[in-house]
Amino acid sequence: MTSIRILIAFVVSVFLISLVHPPVALMQETALDGFTREDSASERRWEEQFHAVPAPNSAREHLRRLTLEPHIAGTKEDTDPIVELVGPRHERLLVREAMLKEDPTSSHPKITPLFNGYSASGDVTAPLVYANYGLPPDYEALQRAGVEVKGKIVIVRYGNSFRGVKAKVAQDHGAAGCIIYSDPAEDGYAQGDVYPQGPWRPVASGQRGSVQFLFQYPGDPLTPGKPAIPGVPRLSLEEAYADIPRIPVQPLAYDEARKLIEPLKGPVRPRGFQGAFPFPYHVGGTNDVRVHLKTEMDYQSRTLWDVVARIDGAAEKDRWVIMGNHRDAWVFGAVDPNSGTASMLEAARGFGQLLKNGWQPRRTIILCSWDGEEYGLIGSTEWAEENADELQQKAVAYLNVDVAVNGPNYGASSVPSLWKLIRAATRDVKDPRTGKTIYQQWQDRAREQRSETDPDLNAEARIGPLGSGSDYTPFLQHLGIPSTDMGFGGDYGVYHSAYDSFYWMSHFGDPDFLYHVAAAQLWGTMAMRLADADGLPFDYTDYANQVRDYFNESVRLAKRRNLESAIDEKSMNGAVKNFTDEAARVERERQKLVAESEKSSATSAKLRRLNDALIAAERAFIDDRGLLGRPWYRHEIYAPGIFTGYAAQPLTDFQQALDDRNMTNAKGGLDRIISAIKRATDVLKKGSE
Ligand SMILES: [Zn+2]
Repeated sequence: MTSIRILIAFVVSVFLISLVHPPVALMQETALDGFTREDSASERRWEEQFHAVPAPNSAREHLRRLTLEPHIAGTKEDTDPIVELVGPRHERLLVREAMLKEDPTSSHPKITPLFNGYSASGDVTAPLVYANYGLPPDYEALQRAGVEVKGKIVIVRYGNSFRGVKAKVAQDHGAAGCIIYSDPAEDGYAQGDVYPQGPWRPVASGQRGSVQFLFQYPGDPLTPGKPAIPGVPRLSLEEAYADIPRIPVQPLAYDEARKLIEPLKGPVRPRGFQGAFPFPYHVGGTNDVRVHLKTEMDYQSRTLWDVVARIDGAAEKDRWVIMGNHRDAWVFGAVDPNSGTASMLEAARGFGQLLKNGWQPRRTIILCSWDGEEYGLIGSTEWAEENADELQQKAVAYLNVDVAVNGPNYGASSVPSLWKLIRAATRDVKDPRTGKTIYQQWQDRAREQRSETDPDLNAEARIGPLGSGSDYTPFLQHLGIPSTDMGFGGDYGVYHSAYDSFYWMSHFGDPDFLYHVAAAQLWGTMAMRLADADGLPFDYTDYANQVRDYFNESVRLAKRRNLESAIDEKSMNGAVKNFTDEAARVERERQKLVAESEKSSATSAKLRRLNDALIAAERAFIDDRGLLGRPWYRHEIYAPGIFTGYAAQPLTDFQQALDDRNMTNAKGGLDRIISAIKRATDVLKKGSE
């Protein structure tokens, strides 16, 4: 069992570089949101200097060094999986990825075999059942086809949900073991040329990854809600089975998986079960195909390392703008996560240059390099749990980047209050390929993807909701800290494999490392604006509108299912209306106070109080009781769905109850959401009286 003792190095980050001074910033007509005209002009000058620092060669060198060795969290993994076909013939399957002569790191001796983090150890031999994506509707389809899963080994394909969900659902259906393979439909040859000719997954490549029940709670499975530091009592392994599987779970590459799936007998594929192999998939469950699955996991407590650097704020040292990225990888992690690490190092170099030039942010900026994200957001969760009280008092926002770059297409997820900040920052960074702004490139692409008849044809590109699967989760969903996540995406088929390597990045993902530079510029700009603004650029009107849209969507769904009697539409609409009105009032007040502070250089006490309210409004969405059956998740608006794992299910408990057709829970869930919205409204009101 991984447990962690976190060592934190607080250093003022000064990364020196000599540079020709960048040209004087073009003065913009309009002030930056939340800045007085004078502060806006000075902020722009600092940002121009900052943007000039990140450089492709430097980012390339960071990434090269970061990806020389596999760097799994903890120490060397010592797993020993066996997957054997025992009938109709005997064959031991490969659980190692092939060496490729083109990719020099693919022959590294420290590359682990394919394995799933937090799988149980086990040794089972049983008939095989193909269960499609391994989600509840798939098991319902198997049942309708008369196929029994209990005591069998299921083989399921990656996709449509977090893999921990697949493990949990297999276990709940009585499966003795679970094999998760990468069907070529998902990220292999059905998508395009495979590595090293193209960016997609080649035959002998599989997807590692954690099968922790992340939707229950992330972090060390032995210390839910508490930091994994000395002196904190640990759960027993038996108790921790609420969070990790009891059955062996094992990933497989697709050429090996084919050997198991092709000979399956039993009913032919139910609707939606066919993948990209060129034969009709049968679901099996008969004695024709039997499999031996053995996993020997090395369960131990190990020390993980977070590295935390901070730049103290000049005026508001106790207000923290936090940037975070994980460092650990399943193998080399050139894309996931070290494109983010290289970008963070470039942003840090930019800040170092600014410090040298005399800049100091108004508020404190903290840069975090997390360990153990891959096993279950461990480094970030344990740090957030350890510093929960202080973070709830001091954190302004948490800006996450996991994968910074695997292509040229910008995308972001965020709480709605920070949408405007994200869009503003993308307007001030150039897209390296087209020379347009990132914003323009992002909008053009969103428009291309819509049909000409789409009523939203000209709407702004969507910023998604935060679910889970990266380190923003403890900050937003456990502590109520406004959070964002972003990166540049593209064709990427080597996720969690040995081929997510420097060679892959320098041939497919970002050969010139220009998008690493753009990511550093963008990320740093967002942090600087939050750290330097006179009046924090949070917009709760976007939040209120988004909540109203979620609710209206749920009501439509409920009506289709004849569940509308569970919904107190009047109370919810009233709460959302008050929240909307208050958001608008606070925004006017913020603009007014920022304008007034033109006259005095110091931020007024009133503005500080308003800034604190803007931060605290997100905290107000936290309900200390937690969500139904999973108390670690405490945010009433945003949490990962139980069966989606990564994807957000907004208005979580209410929505889940509607899915379950549980009227009592729907009513209770909505009541709590209404209370949370009222709390947030009160916080905004009190902060601006
Ligand atoms: Zn990652």
